[in-house]
Amino acid sequence: MGANVRGTHACERVVVNRVPLQPMKVLTLLKSSYPNAHYYLDFKTPLDLLVAAILSAQVRDEVVNDATKELFRHYKKAKDYANASVNDLVKYIGKVSFAANKATHIIAASKMLVDKHDGNVPKTIEELIELPGVGRKTAIVILSNAYNIVDGIVVDTHVIRVSDRLGWSHQKNADRRAQELDKLIPKEWWKETQWLLKAHGRAICKAPIPSCSRCPIGKLCPKVGVTKHE
Ligand code: SF4
Repeated sequence: MGANVRGTHACERVVVNRVPLQPMKVLTLLKSSYPNAHYYLDFKTPLDLLVAAILSAQVRDEVVNDATKELFRHYKKAKDYANASVNDLVKYIGKVSFAANKATHIIAASKMLVDKHDGNVPKTIEELIELPGVGRKTAIVILSNAYNIVDGIVVDTHVIRVSDRLGWSHQKNADRRAQELDKLIPKEWWKETQWLLKAHGRAICKAPIPSCSRCPIGKLCPKVGVTKHE
């Protein structure tokens, strides 16, 4: 396992829409600016991460981490979740949006883990996306961060915004954008790309107004679509 399902094509400098792109230089500079960038949901086990990732849809990381602190103390195995009721879980995750819906997914996914995978979180995209509440993006997150099996770049809202402004991709569709970024960025950077673009998106390249005057990659950035900045 570990095959690149979206295709690999590493290149250090490419030209798209006449905008010169230097992803390796940009990522190297971002890495020195955010040396502690890391995955942002708290977890100790692959099951923790599966649960946190299901909860994280359309929710801030801090809210998820706050909710899972107590949840993970009480629920440690897939069978614990499988035997829970929606109300049992909502007691802990009530502040997460769509809590009941997500609790239903967590319980159903855990039942499938118990029935089909001996209670373990599987290690392939194909098996992961069979689980309720788990799409391709979540599957890639789990493989990459729980098992270090890196099958692509995770595209979140920060990755979309920053990669737009850098001119790396303008695809509206997240899967197609992920494919373009996979082609543009060498595989050894895939895991960190989301962490670094997210850290940068939160600190400097914010929506709606980026702080370009103090941006460590300002000289490399074409600022695509930026009409106003600090
Ligand atoms: S120069 Fe501005 S738009 Fe470009 S990455 Fe930096 S903050 Fe974002």
